[in-house]
Amino acid sequence: MTQWNILCDFDGTISVEDVTDSLLDRFAPPEWQVLERDWRAGKIGSAECMAGQVALLDASREEIDDHLAGLRIDPAFPQFVEAVFAAGSTLRVVSDGLDYAIRAILRRYRLDHLPVLANRLVPSAPRRWQLETPFSDPHCRIGSGHCKCASAVREHNRHHRVLLVGDGASDYCAAGEADYVFAKHRLIEHCRHAAIPHTSIVGFADAIGLLPALLAGKLHTPRRVLMPEAATR
Ligand SMILES: [Mg+2]
Ligand SMILES: [Zn+2]
Repeated sequence: MTQWNILCDFDGTISVEDVTDSLLDRFAPPEWQVLERDWRAGKIGSAECMAGQVALLDASREEIDDHLAGLRIDPAFPQFVEAVFAAGSTLRVVSDGLDYAIRAILRRYRLDHLPVLANRLVPSAPRRWQLETPFSDPHCRIGSGHCKCASAVREHNRHHRVLLVGDGASDYCAAGEADYVFAKHRLIEHCRHAAIPHTSIVGFADAIGLLPALLAGKLHTPRRVLMPEAATR
């Protein structure tokens, strides 16, 4: 059976709400919305947008932790992770959000063993924070904090297929690099327009239902040729 490397967006896909926006709503002055509008209008990339927004946060670590303790994930996600591992496939969280927030939320669901590739939220002074972008790419066409297309390309492996599960603009580019996409929200329209092989899902309950067909090779039409595993041994 073909193994799959599954890349999973966090905000709006695993988490119910957009975690970064909820932190800004609570702890930043309204100017963060100006940056958000510039990003939505395509004037700045998400790296510049989020660096500016994170610099506006005025919150202690305790206040941030308290806020994160109230945020929930899709209730079917833990079962999806179990099914993926039981099938011998891997799953990574690929996010253009904040690693500290993602890890804190996943820990509550005992999912902190999952690898997380995301931007870093780093303390810079009391109540002050800054953004680091270890997964940015100088060639990123849209100036993302985390260039998910570069991350998706890195997942390409002669023996694995890549599945992307995502919902929004930060997933558009990576969707084009994946062998198959489980798409939510705005990503559905994007996949339709760009003729990217996908199934639309409402949440991980649907993804669990699709997994057997995916693993059996019944969903994707191969766009890359995989080497048979035996050939390299
Ligand atoms: Mg998202
Ligand atoms: Zn990119």
